[in-house]
Amino acid sequence: MSETKRKIALVTGASRGIGRAIAIELAKTGAFIIVNYSSSPEAAQETLNAIREVGGDGELLKFSVQDSQAVENAFDGIKSRHGQLDILVNNAGISKDGLVLRMKDEEWLTTLAVNLNGSFFCSRAAARLMLKSKWGRIVNISSVVGEMGNAGQVPYVSSKSGVIGMTKALARELASRNVTVNAVTPGFIETDMTAALDEKLRAEHMKTIPLGRYGQGEEVAKLVAFLASDSAAYITGQVIGINGGMYM
Ligand code: NAP
Repeated sequence: MSETKRKIALVTGASRGIGRAIAIELAKTGAFIIVNYSSSPEAAQETLNAIREVGGDGELLKFSVQDSQAVENAFDGIKSRHGQLDILVNNAGISKDGLVLRMKDEEWLTTLAVNLNGSFFCSRAAARLMLKSKWGRIVNISSVVGEMGNAGQVPYVSSKSGVIGMTKALARELASRNVTVNAVTPGFIETDMTAALDEKLRAEHMKTIPLGRYGQGEEVAKLVAFLASDSAAYITGQVIGINGGMYM
């Protein structure tokens, strides 16, 4: 792919939190950003406004990553509008927490469906386009708990560990065509997902984080933007922590 051609990037779950920060950061690198969301059109529009404020451009694309057919339709649209997809960030994620003895089938299945199936459906569809153009970057947003485990989060942890396995297998499968696949494992990052935690739990967390604070979405976004760049051409199949030192 020519270095000067504008890259097309899809960020799933870009209406809020880490996904929004990633979308803005990638826009700063000059990529055209496809802002995916599933249920928050106003928030997604705010992301697009923020992209334009930093001099970038993009579009909104609503689909649920857990719906295989909706993902296929969305990628058909991307192909016909842009002819290519260069960067995929599998960021959309949910968490259904609770103790395993009380965990309902639906909570387990939905968490796996969004976090793991969703990353698979989008990666498969993206791989078709990337293999053709012989250039691609897939960055999967896993989690530190996918590496170290966490009580009360069996479905979430299982899905995020699954994403790490998928990253490594896919990296091996796509490497010969210059498509890299990496996983980023954030620790506690200030977003809606962590805003729900009470003060007592936050104080407990601080004791486990050597750097003594939660991270910011922008900090994760800069790492993702690096992995999505030409500078990261020799990095694939890696799991890169960004967690204030809570897991080493
Ligand atoms: P968040 O603030 O709760 O935002 C989640 C995003 O995912 C929203 O944009 C939401 O869009 C989207 N989403 C949810 N279900 C979707 C679906 N089925 N299809 C498409 N989009 C969907 O979460 P966050 O904290 O930014 O987390 C982003 C990612 O980082 C997740 O994968 C999370 O597991 C991971 N992570 C977060 C932390 C943390 O401390 N925050 C730590 C480690 C890893 P709608 O609102 O439109 O549904």
